[in-house]
Amino acid sequence: MYQIPDLKQIETLRHIAVLTSGGDSPGMNAAIRAIVRTANHFNIEVTGIQRGYSGLLDNAFVGLNSENVCNLIQRGGTTLMSARCKEFHLRETRELAVNNLRQRGIEALIVIGGDGSLTGARLMEKEFGFPVIGLPGTIDNDIYGTEVCIGFDTALHTAVNAVDRIRDCANSSEHFHIVECMGRNSGALAVHTGIATSAELILIPEAPWQMDEVCHQLYQLRKSDRATSGIIVVAEGGSTGVSYEIQQQLALLGIDSLVTILGHIQRGGTPSPNDRLLASALGNASIHYLMAGYSNVMVGVERGRTITSDLADVISHRQSLNDSTLKLVAELKPWF
Ligand code: ADP
Repeated sequence: MYQIPDLKQIETLRHIAVLTSGGDSPGMNAAIRAIVRTANHFNIEVTGIQRGYSGLLDNAFVGLNSENVCNLIQRGGTTLMSARCKEFHLRETRELAVNNLRQRGIEALIVIGGDGSLTGARLMEKEFGFPVIGLPGTIDNDIYGTEVCIGFDTALHTAVNAVDRIRDCANSSEHFHIVECMGRNSGALAVHTGIATSAELILIPEAPWQMDEVCHQLYQLRKSDRATSGIIVVAEGGSTGVSYEIQQQLALLGIDSLVTILGHIQRGGTPSPNDRLLASALGNASIHYLMAGYSNVMVGVERGRTITSDLADVISHRQSLNDSTLKLVAELKPWF
């Protein structure tokens, strides 16, 4: 289990709130549960806000307590629901949200989400001095200030499981299969999936690739009979559908291929044990950090310990893949 530092309690909190925002990720429920249970342990009341920042504006507030977070840890998605709220990009909207929190006597807000959600949290603190703590929840695993985000491990298991199944078909029918992973601009999920399934080719934004070049290499392979089937794992790289472009290019060269876009199955599902443990540690730690007077930070993990990073730093950086990952891909490439 992650080590949480011993912190001196300097704040006496009475009432906090929690919301989940942006893309949902498996393990968010485990984090909510840990926040509520830990807060209640220290006699702090918790209000849940439904549908992310939209709920702050619509007054979608629900009381949470140790009992109503029973049977939650194993459930995917988020019981508070998540949403995207365009209006939150406006300062006056954020002011309204902070006023709504203050009117209810809420003294701090914990936001679980990706970099967009953490940006919203940071602005609430910066502009109106409202105490916030962020927790990294995204299957994209692209948040700076933590080695791993809530949901990534589960999504990786799901994607690996799917590719293993597709491999059976690829071997049997001698086809190239193009499998597209989520991740927005990050190739983390794709590259880890590709390595774990010994994909013949992994295409990620972090290692720029040219469509013509890739398709030409696949054509050469097919012609030489060195490869009659294979798995190409590609990161969506900003928008869904790049795999269809590869398929079309290959078709122009006379090569049939099959496309599977893994899509939202990577987001849903029962959180893995590692995600439950991570989310429990981060949820628990967030209360300890709040009681120790921390604000405007994200709680992440590094080398088996929870750490905090300034939200301004978190949102102005991107977690990049380490060099060893890219080297590994380059050195393990079986075809080229
Ligand atoms: P994620 O948190 O998964 O990265 P988004 O980028 O869609 O997902 O952000 C989720 C929500 O966070 C947005 O719908 C919006 O309400 C809020 N948000 C995102 N970016 C900003 C921003 N620059 N300023 C204020 N709020 C933001």
